[in-house]
Amino acid sequence: MANKIINTHFSDREMDCHCGCQKTVSSELLVRLEALRRMLDRPLSVTSGARCETHNRESGGKPGSWHLKGLAVDISCVDSEFRGEIIRLAGMLGFNGIGVAKVFIHLDLRPEEEKRCFLYD
Ligand SMILES: [Zn+2]
Repeated sequence: MANKIINTHFSDREMDCHCGCQKTVSSELLVRLEALRRMLDRPLSVTSGARCETHNRESGGKPGSWHLKGLAVDISCVDSEFRGEIIRLAGMLGFNGIGVAKVFIHLDLRPEEEKRCFLYD
């Protein structure tokens, strides 16, 4: 139900919990993600947005994941140059958690004092 809040390039199907429970991301996350999309001027494919406890567990998410609070997204990304651009702009847009994996980038809105950029195995 993400797009009830603002009009974005993202579909509810991308942002809501994939189990069908309709848990969705926070409007703050959606606003910042849309800002990132507009600055990049290139499509972003979200592979995971909000997750309920059950789906988080089943999809191998960490307990206490920011996805549970609707404050995180994973974006599909395999191209180094594009990855660099996303990381640079996401940092400017207040995504205080940036996780880099081989095929995706995780962005979350953890508090400023917990700011970190990390690599997945
Ligand atoms: Zn769910």
